[in-house]
Amino acid sequence: MRPITAIGFDADDTLWQNEQYYRLTEAHFQTLLGDFAEGWHISERLLEAEKRNLAQYGFGIKGFTLSMIETAIEITEGKVPVNTISEILDIGRDLLRHPVETLPHVEETLAALNGEYLLVLITKGDLFDQERKLAQSGLGDYFDAIEIVSDKNATTYRRIFSKLADGPERAMMVGNSLKSDIVPAIAAGSYAVFVPHQLTWVLEHVEKPEAAPRFRQIQNLGDLQQVLTEITDAGTSAAIHRPPAGKSNRRDGR
Ligand SMILES: [Mg+2]
Repeated sequence: MRPITAIGFDADDTLWQNEQYYRLTEAHFQTLLGDFAEGWHISERLLEAEKRNLAQYGFGIKGFTLSMIETAIEITEGKVPVNTISEILDIGRDLLRHPVETLPHVEETLAALNGEYLLVLITKGDLFDQERKLAQSGLGDYFDAIEIVSDKNATTYRRIFSKLADGPERAMMVGNSLKSDIVPAIAAGSYAVFVPHQLTWVLEHVEKPEAAPRFRQIQNLGDLQQVLTEITDAGTSAAIHRPPAGKSNRRDGR
């Protein structure tokens, strides 16, 4: 029996660049408010606003834009000029139009795995924005299913892998966020492959679950097939060496 039959992929900063566009927009936002506060202070207040608003707005560019406006009002103590608000809306809209740049080895890896495994794209963020990026990336046809979710926790992975595949134990999640892609997938009982990206949003940082037997880390998606081969080989040899039923030499009777 193959140990893994389904693979979930995160999208932003796993399949294509994302965070770098947020950083550019944030730098632009700092210059728009440059008369009122220093850049680091503006960023700090923006992050606080984003944290406060996540539960109401969810992840994505629309929530980020509203948080920028809220921060501008706070920092200027209500004196932010209307044309600055208008410019903030413009840079938010620009972010919704950023080019889609796929990461190294993504397409060839998806092409190789397509047909061998059930491939599911699992991403959070604004629905329209994620659909746009998927369409522009040209990667849509490699996936058997697309799941755009409001948050990623162990329940999310259990639900998706039970509904679409052979349950979380026979699934693997691949992504750049320890908090969203790796830790909850391990908690759900799946394998999880961490592909670090040099830019990751500060709210996505948590400790690596290095002691977890189903945790793996690779440099880029080009190394994913090797990891799958190793897990499959280990699963096959474990099956061969398993003692036949009824002949266990355990003596404790449990
Ligand atoms: Mg990501």
